[in-house]
Amino acid sequence: MDIEPLEALPEDWERALCVVAHPDDMEFGAAAAVARWTGQGKDVAYCMVTSGEAGIDGLDPEECRRVREAEQIASAEIVGVSVVDFLGRPDGVLEYGVPLRREIAGVVRRSRPDIVITGNFRDSWGGSSLNQADHIATGRAVLDAVRDAGNRWVFHEQLDDGLEPWGGVRAVWAFGSPGARHGVDTTGTFDTGVASLEAHGAYIDGLGWEHFDAREFLEGFGRQTGQRLGVAFGAAFEVFSMGWGD
Ligand SMILES: [Zn+2]
Repeated sequence: MDIEPLEALPEDWERALCVVAHPDDMEFGAAAAVARWTGQGKDVAYCMVTSGEAGIDGLDPEECRRVREAEQIASAEIVGVSVVDFLGRPDGVLEYGVPLRREIAGVVRRSRPDIVITGNFRDSWGGSSLNQADHIATGRAVLDAVRDAGNRWVFHEQLDDGLEPWGGVRAVWAFGSPGARHGVDTTGTFDTGVASLEAHGAYIDGLGWEHFDAREFLEGFGRQTGQRLGVAFGAAFEVFSMGWGD
């Protein structure tokens, strides 16, 4: 089978904001890339739309929220991310719409990132493996909210407290997308990415996947992507440019 090469992502930026539906989303696709970028001195912040409180069958949602927020904060710290926001929206039943766009636009205006990262929001992961509703709602809202954030007259009420519009986002990057055409070499930070996923211990145990091995799981995807970049390990992203004509 032919291997479709990936184009290297630009690294001439300073600040990224990652907005994903659940604690653990970053770690299943992008933590090693984040570790690479924070290692270059870039500033990366995380924003979780939900706290993943519906994620463990045997655990009451309120207790689960505490466990998963703590795991996410620890997991972020491993890859050099010290800011983790939780928007507290309901896990499992997120709705794409103006309220979600408004909230994410506010985060973008406060954070003022160059790059916004989210997870795959296509219908599938490629093949027959279906994506999950919260991921789709979040990614679509992120894409729109980035544009909303730059428009003074959209969610204008946010600008009362000295907050300014922010139109400086160059692109939205979605990891794990079957439409990915770009990638980043994560060979040097692969182990850090594994440790970051392993920090979600209670969640992984709660899934009840027998013999789940974080390293093995990440190695599979990492190697495939690495091949497309000509390196040992890589992470792939679909790029949505926010500029005109590029
Ligand atoms: Zn998720």
